[in-house]
Amino acid sequence: MTHAPSRDMAGGLLTIDLAALTANYLDLARRVSPSRTAAVVKADAYGLGASCVASALEGAGCQDFFVAHLEEALALKSVLSPNVRLYVLNGLQPGAEAACAKASVIPVLNGLDQAWRWRDLAMSLGAPLPAAIQIDSGMARLGLSAADLDTLLADAAFFSQISLMLVMSHLACSDEPEAPSNEAQQAFFARQADRLPPAPRSLANSGGIFLGAAHHADLVRPGVSLYGVAPNDAPNPMRAVVRLDAKVIQVRDIAAGDRVGYGLTYAREAPGRIATIAVGYADGWPRHLSNAGAAYSHGVRLPIAGRVSMDSITLDVSALAGQGLDLKLGDLVELLGPHQTLEDVARAAGTIPYEILTGLGRRYHRTYVEDTTMSQLSVTPRQATVFS
Ligand SMILES: *Cc1c(COP(=O)(O)O)cnc(C)c1O
Repeated sequence: MTHAPSRDMAGGLLTIDLAALTANYLDLARRVSPSRTAAVVKADAYGLGASCVASALEGAGCQDFFVAHLEEALALKSVLSPNVRLYVLNGLQPGAEAACAKASVIPVLNGLDQAWRWRDLAMSLGAPLPAAIQIDSGMARLGLSAADLDTLLADAAFFSQISLMLVMSHLACSDEPEAPSNEAQQAFFARQADRLPPAPRSLANSGGIFLGAAHHADLVRPGVSLYGVAPNDAPNPMRAVVRLDAKVIQVRDIAAGDRVGYGLTYAREAPGRIATIAVGYADGWPRHLSNAGAAYSHGVRLPIAGRVSMDSITLDVSALAGQGLDLKLGDLVELLGPHQTLEDVARAAGTIPYEILTGLGRRYHRTYVEDTTMSQLSVTPRQATVFS
């Protein structure tokens, strides 16, 4: 399956390995079994294409999907089977209640205002509506406080109007296994969830999965690790899902002292060779990589020479000559692949892999590949048992 723009016109080729994606899903599912594994596909599946990603994950056995916005859930409705559960993490925005109910999308109720609006709609429809409740266990971002739960529980009718599908919370420091807040949040969440009617519980994102079974609860919610990113600083157990190659659009020799790019910030003491590639910061390649990042060709590191422009980057490719290599118009250089990971790029740019991944632009030619690795896996993903 391929997507516009065409391979000939695009400045970069983004390859998404759906076999690696589903292998990552099954790997995580195996680690947390008998807990169940959802998939977080918000922000267009972290930029990789929510419909392709979610379909592939449903094929691997995933039955629970989380997005951030109702709009994202509605778009997935037509792609996934009617029986999968679609949760909206950002909750129920005022005015969106009817559309949410009509599509059978499950809002994560993050505050009392949302809870009352959803209850009122259920009452007017004369039938209970499904919901998840988020408890704020110490991150102060989204969710009900202990005092909010007091108020909620004081409304005797509330849980006759709402069918509680999930009780969840979110960890602030799951990528830091030693952080004391992880245990504190887990304990607080368990205590508060005990006050609610019985429902499956969910706490762990990717990092939380690697904190151990105490954090797995009934359902885990990985996002970034499905897409190949390390859940913490330990060696990355996930398979790479994304490859990005950029097209060379010009190559030139420069003399000693010639300056390169905006601000004329790069020069060589010796003559050299510069290749310009058709990817820039408008394609999500951070400007912070000016004179800092690199591309690779035949495993040779090609440093970014000068500033990253909007639509192009200049590379110092002088090192290739020493290997008897050169670049020519139309050749591809590796931006993400075996020699350079999302973690490498994020580190060089002073950010996190999430930001690099979700920023990958819309101007790339996209190819979804499925190799045969999957058929060699003999894992049966766990099917729904807790939910009804
Ligand atoms: C984004 C998000 C996740 C997924 O987090 P990763 O770190 O990408 O695994 C899980 N839960 C919530 C509430 C989120 O916002």
